[in-house]
Amino acid sequence: TYVIALPCVDVKDKACVEECPVDCIYEGERTLYIHPEECVDCGACEPVCPTEAIFYEDDLPDEYKEWYDVNANFFSEL
Ligand code: SF4
Repeated sequence: TYVIALPCVDVKDKACVEECPVDCIYEGERTLYIHPEECVDCGACEPVCPTEAIFYEDDLPDEYKEWYDVNANFFSEL
């Protein structure tokens, strides 16, 4: 899955939402989240993010590793 990290917080540009072919990017209060089971790993969202907040899970920089769980937990709490 792709993961949305810290640079999206309080930005929520939503360029990614327009690109996602399976509509798996959801809006929370302060950031956007990618549903880890719905994401088909197409990568279309990553280059359009103006804050470079989106990473493939294995490519998350160390400082953003926790965002894998942040995204997953958002959906488990719904
Ligand atoms: Fe949607 Fe593709 Fe981005 Fe996954 S990688 S969130 S399917 S645009």
